Amino acid sequence: MYSKKIHRILVPTPFAVGAVNTYLIEGSPLTLIDTGVKSSMAKSAMVDGLNSVGYGLEDIEQILLTHGHVDHIGLAGTIVEARSGDISVWIHEDDAIRITDYTGYIEERMHSYVEIAKECGTPSDSSIMGSQRVLADYFLRFGESVENVSLVQDGQKLPSGVGDLQCLWVPGHSLGSVCYIAPEESVMFSGDHILGDISSNPSLDFEGSLGISMLRYFDSLRRVEPFHKFKVLPGHRDPITNLSERVIDLFADYDEKLHRAENTLTEEPISIYALSRILYGDYPDDSLVLALAETKDIVLILQQNKKARVLEIENVLYAVRIDG
Ligand SMILES: [Zn+2]
Repeated sequence: MYSKKIHRILVPTPFAVGAVNTYLIEGSPLTLIDTGVKSSMAKSAMVDGLNSVGYGLEDIEQILLTHGHVDHIGLAGTIVEARSGDISVWIHEDDAIRITDYTGYIEERMHSYVEIAKECGTPSDSSIMGSQRVLADYFLRFGESVENVSLVQDGQKLPSGVGDLQCLWVPGHSLGSVCYIAPEESVMFSGDHILGDISSNPSLDFEGSLGISMLRYFDSLRRVEPFHKFKVLPGHRDPITNLSERVIDLFADYDEKLHRAENTLTEEPISIYALSRILYGDYPDDSLVLALAETKDIVLILQQNKKARVLEIENVLYAVRIDG
């Protein structure tokens, strides 16, 4: 329990990140922030969590989704189904398709994973090549579509048992990521925008029209500044009580990554894949897309800063150093 009315319900996921934090806010409307995945283990964790404070699945009146990743949205359909009265499910419009057409989105997404792997020069014997079907089937198990959603906008206020919750749009981790601010409690629900001791993976949303995802994320990190004194309840792991320090640390980490990449580049073209192996070492296969997407963002930022040039040679992206 984080306040009299806010309870964390920890929901297990099958993913490397571990359990996801969902938050029940008592009062009217009875509100749940994020849901966890669709699985029998997740459902019983949710039911147990709700029961422990005197509620059931069918009592939830409002679901606020911080973003459209399956570990946060997967169980929404189950909760909507359990409810006989009204229930509203809120998500930012830029992530809405991920829940309104879960299958279509996952299919397209897994296709784009294989495409980015090729574009970065990943060796053709890598396990990601040809694994699109397997990956899609895996993710499809843990979520489902919910067609009736409401679209929340930046600055919009939604009622809750702890007063109005204000939506803060923070694109980066995903294009439609939002935080919810509860001024009466001095609490910010940060989703995966800011996590305590792990990276928010600001490059994995590599599609989209808003430019380099990592730069978008930096802008969004600056957006939380007015709430530096707030307690942060994140989507994974423990609460963050020193937000301003955490933001400073995050900027320092990315600065270090940019410098390391800049110092690694030479006048000899290196593929994004090869560069990712130097920057991130011998990462496991399931971190490949993450490493590639981040490395690509880094060289695009270096190019924008006139420190590097990105070349396309036979449909593969390479980077070279330039001294600007
Ligand atoms: Zn996420």
